[in-house]
Amino acid sequence: SIPEGYRALDDRTLAAYLAGLPAIRRRLGGDPESWRVSEVGDGNLNLVFIVEGPDGDICVKQALPYVRLVGESWPLDLKRAWFEHQAAVIQSRHAPRQIPEVLHYDEKLYLFVMERCHPHVIMRRGMIEGVVYPTFAEQIAEYLAKTLYFTSDMALPAAEKKEIVAAFCGNTELCKITEDLIFTDPYMICDRNRWTSPQLDDAARTIREDAELKRAVSALKLKFMSETQALLHGDLHTGSIMVTEDDTKVIDPEFAFVGPMGFDVGKLIGNLLMSFFSQRGHECRPGEREAYRRWILATAEQVWSGFEKRFVELWTSYPTGDAYPRALFDGSEGRASLRIAQAAYMRRLFEDALGYAGTSMIRRTLGLAHNADMERIADPDLRASCERRNLELARDLIVNARAYPDIAAVTARAAAIE
Ligand code: ADP
Ligand code: MG
Ligand code: MG
Ligand code: MG
Repeated sequence: SIPEGYRALDDRTLAAYLAGLPAIRRRLGGDPESWRVSEVGDGNLNLVFIVEGPDGDICVKQALPYVRLVGESWPLDLKRAWFEHQAAVIQSRHAPRQIPEVLHYDEKLYLFVMERCHPHVIMRRGMIEGVVYPTFAEQIAEYLAKTLYFTSDMALPAAEKKEIVAAFCGNTELCKITEDLIFTDPYMICDRNRWTSPQLDDAARTIREDAELKRAVSALKLKFMSETQALLHGDLHTGSIMVTEDDTKVIDPEFAFVGPMGFDVGKLIGNLLMSFFSQRGHECRPGEREAYRRWILATAEQVWSGFEKRFVELWTSYPTGDAYPRALFDGSEGRASLRIAQAAYMRRLFEDALGYAGTSMIRRTLGLAHNADMERIADPDLRASCERRNLELARDLIVNARAYPDIAAVTARAAAIE
């Protein structure tokens, strides 16, 4: 049932609502009649408005009580707006440059106002056009290292960490979407699934019948459900990142919860790899995107290496949490011992990330929600050939994560399959 006081806003009612918020009114400037409001939501779930006034602009996001992609037949908890704005508030303490500032939250309307990212574009769109983003890898690695490290038990005292776990453990409906849509549906017959058919009918059946793969995916699902390593973004794909040539902003953390770090890192790397395999579908002549393909692989490598390096640096410089207590790793012997522990931790995280990369690549090919990288390829035979390569790497990342010595081995394998 819809809570009292909630109503979905439209262009007109939103302007009237914002006119009643003095700080927002000042930021926009002029009279509310002069503000330009446009609904720009292109996502699967929510309403998103851009409001432009004579002095400034803002972005407003409001949760709908159902899944926008499907309709009112699929109700969805409005509380996700609270989790989203709260995750943005926490993450912006650690990585302020990479998160649009939250300016206002309304608990009755399940709506929040934030800084507008401008002239940024959704990274997925840019990558379909073949645009290079030279500062992306370094900035997103910094975002990942800081948001994950500073919400982990290595940085936080146990009681503070548990407070974050408690605050986000109610985001169950959004977690359940991930549990079902990523880790379950693509591996069985399910009405919500679709794929390029009939071209991929055999590939979908092979995956449904792959016992080894289903065991590995179920282990990743269990880890997703039960590990509380750090506060995750929870939906970190290239559609949740807005970029310019020299700036990177992360939006849409409504799936935030405390889970395994490899899920954020892996979902991002998986989306880069999907873009890689989609590129031949966007070529006007064969080989046209070759240099771009190389840039994507180099970027995937830099995301992992940059993240790993920064995360370990933060751990070494700020051992302020209750895990790996400073007292046990003192002196030069202690520091050497900590380096051994860190290497083992990063290795496990790497294998988790490869598994989660693979599951993201499969769900976007065989499950409910597909991505524009592939969907924009009009010729179904060409699209299926890209998707088939994507599935081949995905399965190997999930089942054979342990066999990859490093990220360069992953990109080498992607290049070999392509
Ligand atoms: P959903 O949860 O429904 O996927 P998103 O948060 O991804 O919604 O936002 C949908 C779209 O709205 C984005 O793809 C982007 O184009 C636009 N958008 C969202 N937040 C901002 C922002 N802070 N500044 C500018 N545009 C934004
Ligand atoms: Mg989105
Ligand atoms: Mg989204
Ligand atoms: Mg979203």
